[in-house]
Amino acid sequence: MPLHDFVRRSTSSATRAVSDTSAADAAVSARPSDDDSVTSWMSAGNCRNYPPAVFFPSDGVGVDRARKICAGCPVADTCLEYALDQRIEHGVWGGCSERERRRILKRRRVDAEI
Ligand code: SF4
Repeated sequence: MPLHDFVRRSTSSATRAVSDTSAADAAVSARPSDDDSVTSWMSAGNCRNYPPAVFFPSDGVGVDRARKICAGCPVADTCLEYALDQRIEHGVWGGCSERERRRILKRRRVDAEI
């Protein structure tokens, strides 16, 4: 199962408690091939040089660490839009935490209604 599907389906708190480690493990085995046009940008991300668990932190310090890595990432915008489009609930994507992505989506919904 691709990482984004795994993460999107992990919505319960029980699953979430397990997901930090499991999602990171899944990331290793689910890393897309260069042929996958939808996710080929992932191979250019700064995170390719770090353990997947870094991007599924359990506290604010971990989020800040991941954000710093994302800050200079050449595909950060694509990464964020991918996470928003796929409704990925866990982890740091495009330099944004789960909470930040929820805010972005909420803001977009409100803007769309105006
Ligand atoms: S923005 Fe962060 S999570 Fe996304 S590809 Fe870049 S380093 Fe990886």
